[in-house]
Amino acid sequence: MTERIKEFLARTEDEGPRLVVDLDVVRANYANFARALPDTRVFYAVKANPAPEILDLLARLGSCFDCASVVEIEQALAAGAAPERISYGNTIKKERDIARAHALGVRLYAVDCEAEVEKIARAAPGARVFCRILSDGAGAQWPLSRKFGCHPDMAADVLERAHALGLVAHGLSFHVGSQQRDPRQWDAALKASAAIFRELAERGVELTMLNLGGGFPTRYLKDVAPVRVYGRAIFRALRRHFGNRIPETIIEPGRGMVGNAGIIEAEVVLISRKARDDAQRWVYLDIGKFNGLAETMDEMIRYPIRTEFDADELGPCVLAGPSCDSVDVLYEKEPYWLPVSLEIGAKVLIEGTGAYTTTYSSVGFNGFAPLKSFVI
Ligand SMILES: *Cc1c(COP(=O)(O)O)cnc(C)c1O
Repeated sequence: MTERIKEFLARTEDEGPRLVVDLDVVRANYANFARALPDTRVFYAVKANPAPEILDLLARLGSCFDCASVVEIEQALAAGAAPERISYGNTIKKERDIARAHALGVRLYAVDCEAEVEKIARAAPGARVFCRILSDGAGAQWPLSRKFGCHPDMAADVLERAHALGLVAHGLSFHVGSQQRDPRQWDAALKASAAIFRELAERGVELTMLNLGGGFPTRYLKDVAPVRVYGRAIFRALRRHFGNRIPETIIEPGRGMVGNAGIIEAEVVLISRKARDDAQRWVYLDIGKFNGLAETMDEMIRYPIRTEFDADELGPCVLAGPSCDSVDVLYEKEPYWLPVSLEIGAKVLIEGTGAYTTTYSSVGFNGFAPLKSFVI
């Protein structure tokens, strides 16, 4: 909780729930990434929080942008980023959208198979492409599974095909899983990447770029290592596998750039018990899975929750959202401990909510409005 957010919440009234994002924290996070990986360009993953004020700030600071759709590309351009600073990083794109991105000047595209390479060769001739390889996501609290990327054995063929079709076989990418709490997880992906660089060099194709993805964590209930620890671990792994021929590198932080910059103010709607002697209370908030807290899916992300009764005795609660869908339960398998004195109508502050909240909020399930956002 920053002083600026505290002051903003005290000065303004709102029915809520509302997210407040402090741009000073985003600015500090950007500086920390730049310092931790000084030779690496930062491509902010727009999907984490595309608020125009955040994109404007990052564009001014010199950030590049990782976009997943034409709309995100337009948002980055509107913030003042030149098209050379934009990567179309989604491996799953309609050919029409590739053509639109090309018309907007975007020249850098992600692929993970030959069919996507062929689309890009047709719709964005001469563009640079990088091939995403699978990473098992071990150690990540929000793993990305097998949806994106190809097996490292396939990557050389995909990029050779790109080269043959007149595209620039630019490099490789991977993502070690979001909220990656183990800085050593980059090592295996870098080892596989170095082997692909060598394989392609033997085939006469020189790759020059390595995209190290996102995954940098934000602090929720458990401590995480600072970004400089990640920077050191990544740099050591680059040295180990690429020697003194380290390629151009980029990172795509999303959560790590904005997660800790935001706080949601929400309200307790109801506190009840399901049986007279039930040890657990049910606490229902005015925010749930459908209006901002989608990342509580499978109880994967556990947000710190502050109340004005935090000095009091705690008791176990099932925490749930306000909608009429029974999946709208935030924490039940592992109960959440909240003060026994917590009252209906009390405000609660949900920390670390700057990333993956507003955009995951539904258009109005049950008539609950999308999460409001204030960027200060
Ligand atoms: C979502 C995403 C990111 C950001 O991941 P974080 O874990 O939030 O840092 C980076 N790159 C790509 C391709 C993504 O899809």
